[in-house]
Amino acid sequence: MSKLVSFPTSLPSNPIPNDTNAAEVVASFVSRLVNLESQDFKNDAVWRDTFALTGTSRTFYTSSTITAAWHETTKRSQAGSFIVDDKRTRTIRSPFGPNWIQARFSFETDAVPQTICTGLITLVLTADSEWRIWTLRTILEQLKGQPNVDVLASVNGTAKLTNGQIEECLFDCIVIGGGQAGLSQGGRLKALGISYVVLDKYQEVGDNWKLRYGSARCKFTTFEEVSALALLTPCCDSTHLSRIL
Ligand SMILES: Cc1cc2nc3c(=O)[nH]c(=O)nc-3n(C[C@H](O)[C@H](O)[C@H](O)COP(=O)(O)OP(=O)(O)OC[C@H]3O[C@@H](n4cnc5c(N)ncnc54)[C@H](O)[C@@H]3O)c2cc1C
Repeated sequence: MSKLVSFPTSLPSNPIPNDTNAAEVVASFVSRLVNLESQDFKNDAVWRDTFALTGTSRTFYTSSTITAAWHETTKRSQAGSFIVDDKRTRTIRSPFGPNWIQARFSFETDAVPQTICTGLITLVLTADSEWRIWTLRTILEQLKGQPNVDVLASVNGTAKLTNGQIEECLFDCIVIGGGQAGLSQGGRLKALGISYVVLDKYQEVGDNWKLRYGSARCKFTTFEEVSALALLTPCCDSTHLSRIL
């Protein structure tokens, strides 16, 4: 038998009535997110946190485990100000598959470090016609009082390189690997004003892929496109690349 069958998750199949007011359903949950109880979750619910409440990347399974971890972490981090992003509430209906309501929300934490976070909640109708949380996703977006990591000022063209050698040798942070994750990390460190260097075992950006597959080609023609990997907004020039690597 497939191992998948033993995983503590399942797809919701109960249909959602056409007259359902998704915004009302979502509001009833988000308004009491701090005080969630075990029965608010589907038995096989999943909560995935990315640095927002646990300080790391963690996934919790089942209603009882999630409730205990949720209470502990929201209390410890003093999470609050949960606000739904009404424009992004959706009802997902499929004639043959899962049905659910999904919504985005934001929240803040007041313990040190104070943060701004976002979340994604999905709600399903159970067989007893009760709404339950199916999945919960929480993500750290910003440290309060620190620069916006999604906005990077253009470099001023004074890259500290001489004949390809970087002049500085002391950095607050060293990122190992200049792939997608490493470049993203570099962009965010720069936005925070933290000095850093990205080291890669290969000579050039993308060599990890270009040298592995003879037919591999880089789709990016400008550094603006490459920088979009890191920050989603093209806002740095090609000088930045030479500063990264
Ligand atoms: C066959 C294939 C095709 C794919 N096609 C696509 C696609 O078309 N579109 C898409 O969006 N995604 C695609 N992906 C997924 C995408 O490539 C990965 O999600 C992405 O590259 C992961 O980024 P990363 O930074 O985590 O790892 P990587 O891109 O692997 O980067 C890791 C970097 O670390 C460096 N490194 C490793 N060890 C060391 C060390 N000891 N010291 C210094 N440097 C080191 C490597 O050289 C590399 O540059 C594909 C993946 C595969 C396997």
